[in-house]
This record gives sequence, C-alpha cells and structure tokens, in this order.
Amino acid sequence: MDLDDLYQEIILEHYKEPKNQGTVADANVHVEGRNPFCGDEIRLTMLVKDGRIVDVKFTGSGCAISQSSASLMTEHIKGKTVDEVKELFKEFGHLVRGEEHTHEHIHDMDELSAFQGVSAFPTRVKCAMLAWNAMKEGIEKELEKYGE
Ligand code: ZN
Repeated sequence: MDLDDLYQEIILEHYKEPKNQGTVADANVHVEGRNPFCGDEIRLTMLVKDGRIVDVKFTGSGCAISQSSASLMTEHIKGKTVDEVKELFKEFGHLVRGEEHTHEHIHDMDELSAFQGVSAFPTRVKCAMLAWNAMKEGIEKELEKYGE
C-alpha cells in the first residue's frame, strides 16, 4: 500500500463512518456551511467554554472529501484551545492548498495529511475547507459576544 492508497483509505473510512455525528445538546456555537459548487452541506454545533472546544458534533451531506474532512476535523479540535484550533486551521489551509509551510501541528503520520492530495484539484479545496471555514466562523462569532 503506498501513501496515496493509505490517504484514500482514511478519507473513505471517515466518509462511511463519520465520527462525532449529531448535535451537541448544550452547544453555544451553531453554524452551517454550504459549498454550492459540489452540493456539500455541514451543520456544526460546538460547546466552547473558557477558550476551549469542550464538545463538537456535525451532521451533513455531500462528497466524501467534505464529509470526511468534517469528521477528521471534529476529532482534531475536540479538547483543544481556541488558539490551538486557529493555528491548526491555518496549517490545514496551507496543506490543502499545497502551500509551502512548516506544519508544526500536523505531523507526517497525522491523518489530516490525507488531505494534502486535494491540492492537485483546486475545485476540491472548497470541499476540504467547508467544515473548517464553518468552524472558524462559528468560533469568531461566539468570541465576539465577549469582546475578545
Ligand atoms: Zn464536495
């Protein structure tokens, strides 16, 4: 199995059996994301408390890239601080756009690396970023309430 096969495997696994499906009951962040080019949809709920992502869940429909990216994202941001998540957002963006960057938080064997192949298909970058953009928008709205 070469690296591309391994990456495809990770994406398909998360598409078939997404993690953190559903709605966080006591969520203070509700956000939706749409990618009209592909018909992808994501509904994200999060509980953000004391600058940390306490819980996160999503529901959605669309292509394998968009849904598996959402699934992997929830796994990687849960329990992290807002600052860590913002850093991860930046690094994931660099990764899927194929930009040269030192990935401090995304290590070689990290499953998020599975999406680096997306950079060869610019139209799919929107699919991979859908959940991430929604997450960032949701967090920023929530923080604005406290004037941070
Ligand atoms: Zn898509």
